[in-house]
Amino acid sequence: MAETFAFSADINQLLSLIINTFYSNKEIFLREIISNASDALDKIRYLSLTDPEALAAEKELEIRLIPDRANKCLIIEDTGIGMTKADMVNNLGTIAKSGTKGFMEALSAGADISMIGQFGVGFYSAYLVADKVTVFSKNNDDEQHCWESAAGGSFIVTKDETNPITRGTRIVLQLKEDMQEYLEEKRLKELVKKHSEFIGFPIKLYVEKETEKEVTDDDEEDEDVKDGEEPKVVDVDEEKEKKTKKVKQVTKSWAHLNEQKPIWMRKPEDVEDAEYASFYKSLSNDWEEHLAVKHFSVEGQLEFRAVLFFPKRAAFDQFEGGNKKKYNAIKLYVRRVFIMDNCEDLMPEWLSFVKGVVDSEDLPLNISRESLQQNKILRVIKKNLVKKTIDLISELAEDSEKYNKFYEQFGKNLKLGIHEDSQNRAKLAKFLRYHSTKSGETVTSLDDYVSRMPAEQNDIYYVTGESKKAVETSPFLEKLKKKGYEVLFLVDPIDEYAVQQLKEFEGKKLVCATKENLNLNETEDEKKTFEELKAATEPLCKLIKEVLDDKVEKVVVSNRLEQAPCCLVTGEFGWSANMERIMKAQALRDSSSSAYMMSKKTMEVNPANPIIKSLTEKVSADQGDKTVKDVIWMLYDTSLLTSGFSLDEPTTFAGRIHRLIKLGLSIDEDEDAGEDDEEPPALESTDDIGDSTMEEVD
Ligand code: ADP
Ligand code: MG
Repeated sequence: MAETFAFSADINQLLSLIINTFYSNKEIFLREIISNASDALDKIRYLSLTDPEALAAEKELEIRLIPDRANKCLIIEDTGIGMTKADMVNNLGTIAKSGTKGFMEALSAGADISMIGQFGVGFYSAYLVADKVTVFSKNNDDEQHCWESAAGGSFIVTKDETNPITRGTRIVLQLKEDMQEYLEEKRLKELVKKHSEFIGFPIKLYVEKETEKEVTDDDEEDEDVKDGEEPKVVDVDEEKEKKTKKVKQVTKSWAHLNEQKPIWMRKPEDVEDAEYASFYKSLSNDWEEHLAVKHFSVEGQLEFRAVLFFPKRAAFDQFEGGNKKKYNAIKLYVRRVFIMDNCEDLMPEWLSFVKGVVDSEDLPLNISRESLQQNKILRVIKKNLVKKTIDLISELAEDSEKYNKFYEQFGKNLKLGIHEDSQNRAKLAKFLRYHSTKSGETVTSLDDYVSRMPAEQNDIYYVTGESKKAVETSPFLEKLKKKGYEVLFLVDPIDEYAVQQLKEFEGKKLVCATKENLNLNETEDEKKTFEELKAATEPLCKLIKEVLDDKVEKVVVSNRLEQAPCCLVTGEFGWSANMERIMKAQALRDSSSSAYMMSKKTMEVNPANPIIKSLTEKVSADQGDKTVKDVIWMLYDTSLLTSGFSLDEPTTFAGRIHRLIKLGLSIDEDEDAGEDDEEPPALESTDDIGDSTMEEVD
């Protein structure tokens, strides 16, 4: 009985894209179908490790390609796990995968169709070359069923008895008129060689050879006439033709297309770059070649071989929550038998971008995902893999151009590593690269930073923020710059986390320039002048604290600033302004963590700044000066901005600015809405205040 099902909306949309758009790279369909066959074979072999009966119906594990020229069909068979009826309905059309939408977006953004496998919808690439696709499948737990669709919104599933399958799947592609090349032996061989050479199961091509055998009447041995060679004696040749008759013979055979042994079993020096590249592509579904590769074996107490690759690009959803686990990062083999994809226990999360294979000689074949976690052998393998990966990063770092490309894509992973991997933290810190007040257009390593440090500088300074542009002009840098101290720009949200764990580099403390207790190694003279100014400014600080009340924790005089009148710093161990920004953004995104902590802010006042000086004078002359209060609020608001925070009340802030603008423009009306009962500040005294505070906002 045939049942009709509608494709899910997403898949339907994908199918019409595939069918109606021109793609030049249609050949990748074969790679996708073979890759699914290989996955299905992996699954049944894995099942058989614990249940030998799983292979009872069919012992052979292989993939077969059969060009059916008479019917213009290409048939791809495997003896894998097969699909039950429910599998067919669910996996081939009704349950949309998360990658479907993402892939369509990527396509419209100019991505190549060959990326389809990465998004988990490779099966549908069959419609690049076929008008109609029929899938026959037999799973041990169900009867044989047939799935069929010519796209068009729906597919049909029927119970099938036509052409019994022992176990596995047979996919019949009714090739489009202009896709007949995929019936040619040469083309198929070329494609398997190009895209599927490293599939771990035999791929066999059905070949029919029609030979014409010449049988001569007499038993005289006839010399073969080679192509292009002129026969010497014409007469003899003619005579020969009369005497021979041609007999057509059809020989049928299976040509094994991927006979190489697994790449990791070969010696690294025997493997060519192109072979690694094509192995990497088949392993990762990546359409680009790898960036770097490490092929090694470990012997001794424990024995395993591995090939590890760095991709050129981070996956599109690398850090998307929940999806992480899906990654097909490291494939685990035990004595050449595939055990599992994406073996999380082999690589820490921060190295989730590394792709590769590991083949262990020691693990038991019937190891389960659950028992892996407790397995000692696996833990040792993991340690080795991390070490080798770090070696590979070191090698990359020798070529700064190549390394920067790597860092652009995977710098976040290294920072995550610093956050999570206490054992390798110090090593990983060497891989960090940042823009700084001295790096110009390029980036600097911490080693280079240290080598540039003036003799009297003890700490490594950094500032965190939203972007290089935002932090470059930060008032926090003024004094440090003047002293010739380099400041690193940490503008990646994850930097905040990494730096909290890193704390120091080669014995030098990492100090955040926007936090309290910045110790600047002042000279005795500098200290003395500062102390004098400090004493004079103290009453103003007291007043500021009174005005701002609980907006700030305290108000202190500071030697941190060079130009700016004041800034807002956070506690040495609390959140920076940047961290507050990050947490606010997260709280907005995820309502479950809506309560974020506000940073405790300290206002630091620059006693040498003209605005501060003038305010100090005003306060000493008249404690109750009304203009002062307004100016204090302006200073607070502008400091929020220049210190990397966001405004609490933008409208009130704008109101104050407008009042200053009116003063600047000499608009002299008694206008403002009743909320402001304070008198506008006197024009003369606020003129320069207005100017310099406005500059800070810019
Ligand atoms: P992916 O391979 O990334 O899961 P595909 O679109 O290529 O995505 O395949 C969809 C699903 O269809 C597979 O996950 C699998 O469940 C099923 N499938 C496809 N081909 C086969 C096959 N030859 N044998 C068994 N199941 C298959
Ligand atoms: Mg697939």
